Amino acid sequence: MEGGYSSRANTGGQLPVTPSPASHPTVLGIAVPTPLRRLFDYRAASDVPPGGWRPGLRVRVPFGRREVMGIVIECRTHSEIALADLKPVSAWLDASPLPDDWLWLCRFTARYYQHALGDTLHQSLPVLLRQGRPLEARTRERWFLTASGRDCPPERLGRARRQAELLALLRLHPRGLTSNIITAQGFSRAQLDALVDRGLIECQQEAVIDGPSPGSGGWLAEPALSLNREQATVLAALHEGLDRYHPCLLQGVTGSGKTEVYLQLIEAVVARGRQALVLVPEIGLTPQTLARFRKRFRVPVVALHSGISDGERLDAWLAATSGRAPIVIGTRSAIFTPLARPGAIIVDEEHDGSYKQQDGLRYHARDLAVVRAHHHAIPVLLGSATPSLESLALAQAGRYRHLHLTRRASRHPPARLELVDLRGRARQGGLIAPTIDAIRKTLTAGHQVLVFINRRGFAPTLACHECGWLAECDRCDARLTLHRQPPQLACHHCERQRPLPDACPDCSSADLRPLGAGTERAEETLAALFPDVAVHRIDRDSTRRKDAFENTLAEVRRGAPCLLVGTQMLAKGHHLPHVTLVVVINADAGLYASDFRALEHSAQLLIQVAGRAGRAEHPGRVMVQTLHSDDPHLRLLAEHGYDALARQLLEERRAADLPPYRFLALARFESPREADVTTLADTAASALRDWLGPNSSPVQCLGPVPAPMERRQNRYHVQLMLSSTQRSKLHEASAWLAAWLESNREARRVRWSLDIDPQTLS
Ligand code: ADP
Ligand code: ZN
Ligand code: ZN
Repeated sequence: MEGGYSSRANTGGQLPVTPSPASHPTVLGIAVPTPLRRLFDYRAASDVPPGGWRPGLRVRVPFGRREVMGIVIECRTHSEIALADLKPVSAWLDASPLPDDWLWLCRFTARYYQHALGDTLHQSLPVLLRQGRPLEARTRERWFLTASGRDCPPERLGRARRQAELLALLRLHPRGLTSNIITAQGFSRAQLDALVDRGLIECQQEAVIDGPSPGSGGWLAEPALSLNREQATVLAALHEGLDRYHPCLLQGVTGSGKTEVYLQLIEAVVARGRQALVLVPEIGLTPQTLARFRKRFRVPVVALHSGISDGERLDAWLAATSGRAPIVIGTRSAIFTPLARPGAIIVDEEHDGSYKQQDGLRYHARDLAVVRAHHHAIPVLLGSATPSLESLALAQAGRYRHLHLTRRASRHPPARLELVDLRGRARQGGLIAPTIDAIRKTLTAGHQVLVFINRRGFAPTLACHECGWLAECDRCDARLTLHRQPPQLACHHCERQRPLPDACPDCSSADLRPLGAGTERAEETLAALFPDVAVHRIDRDSTRRKDAFENTLAEVRRGAPCLLVGTQMLAKGHHLPHVTLVVVINADAGLYASDFRALEHSAQLLIQVAGRAGRAEHPGRVMVQTLHSDDPHLRLLAEHGYDALARQLLEERRAADLPPYRFLALARFESPREADVTTLADTAASALRDWLGPNSSPVQCLGPVPAPMERRQNRYHVQLMLSSTQRSKLHEASAWLAAWLESNREARRVRWSLDIDPQTLS
């Protein structure tokens, strides 16, 4: 490393925040945005921030040839490097440190996930703060009448007609109007200025997201629904734990009124002057969800998701940090939002895969939510119709309180899954006659049908009927997907796109045929079978255009009979009241996949999709096409439901010594050069085994083995699995491996990462 920096091992995550020494610290241990797992020592500048040097302060420091934003972590009086050799901090950015709760969570996260603290801090801040923007919320002007404005008769303004009208408008709004609203009414800045000059109006600056106004008549903008008996029991249980760490798993079938329970829990939290943080899956934060929260409460509900601008994100972050926003709702990264007065954390669809970040800082937002709630001594509510086996095991072990909602708020119970045997039946775009028949009947009855197929594109691949050639990606061990809109072959693993060949590249035959079916093909088949009904396709391709998804859903909600064809984008969260038949084109993909979680995930997806059927007045029906209608797991799910399958899967996991009964860490290695990856992985594995000692070690090391898809984007992927029944031992071993890799010369030519509690083994 460059001279002047100390080479202390990473203490970023392990030590408690060092209180600043009473004397002025001379050395600052600073986290800078780098993948290196250590702090860097700097000399405290003579220009001391008003509150003194403290952990959490943003500073600007020279780093290599650049200046970067760093965060003070330790304030000390000594360094292993001579003081004279330390570079000084260039400048401090904030008078006071970033919030304690955020700093605490980042330190925990960095340590638990074996990630560099500097990068963790950086990733978990809004972009504008990373760039050094001040901790100031954007403001806007609010205009009011002055005392003389209130007394001023309109005639006094003479011929200034618009000014008189503006005065009259403000008279109607004693709490003032913002500039936006005034200009939207066609008034100009000049007219505002003229009234200011006459002393009739004045303005105040306020934060764009303003806090709840006291005395505005309660927190609720609309009355809460009166709960059914099950909901009331659940809410009463939640009310018992408002002032302590109270982890609850709320297992409730789709449509059983979980969201209503969340809303009433939040009401209790807000009434105590506290804040509620609500996490929703990546595609669960729809305008409808947000509208439902905003409609209920009179207080600001701020949303944090990928669709907002950097400025909006900073405003929302600051509103949460200052406590002005009592309700914060966001996707995965919102778990890092600081809260002035944390009161409860809710994780909706807690089983959802999008809570786990799959690259860089590989954290799990649900798990951090539980850790954070414990730290703050507040309740945490995990809700799902299909809880993860991890959460179910914790509930079984008594670590979480297990709450249930078994009945739908509407009249009809959730539909059973009907298994439809595909064997020996002719298929049309993936559908067989009995299914097509059911679709026809449903449409004729004036209802809507949802056809679920978890593959976008026209067909999973293109094949030569003459010689058996299959279209394959030249950069991955994968087939190319055939697309028709636009026509091309595309790799879903590396985004490689190729024009459609006219003839087979191996035998020149022109007899190339699509193999299998994707959403486009299902759409085409259904459009041909039912020419009089609209067919809406919903997948990542059809919804690229902003609002396309929302517009389609709005159209569907109007209720005319139609067909919806789509991927899992359709399965989650959306209320589709007119759908009474759900068809799953093929349930088999997850049944025999190599990943041990595949079965759990496909069962969750099936139940989610099925939950779309019959949510309003009419009962629903769910037809699941399969080649394995006698598969014991599938039958258990269809005949006895998710709970029964989950119990069975938990037993199998226990017998096989797999999570949640054993903890895993996965080291991944990748490089364009196969020899580099295998050599490094082999050396790392034997170094680790030496360190672990003889076989009696509580940590097992498996591999290295090639990743399930060994070649991706022309890079070779190899992995090493660590496992243990003791978290702390697994933790020590992963930390050792990370340190070894970081100091290993060979490791610089290979990209490597550690994934603690990996969700997929790919
Ligand atoms: P979930 O989140 O479990 O899927 P929701 O909270 O969205 O369920 O409730 C499903 C539907 O039932 C919604 O339309 C909701 O307004 C309605 N609902 C929920 N609770 C009640 C209740 N206590 N009384 C009447 N309707 C309710
Ligand atoms: Zn051929
Ligand atoms: Zn590819």
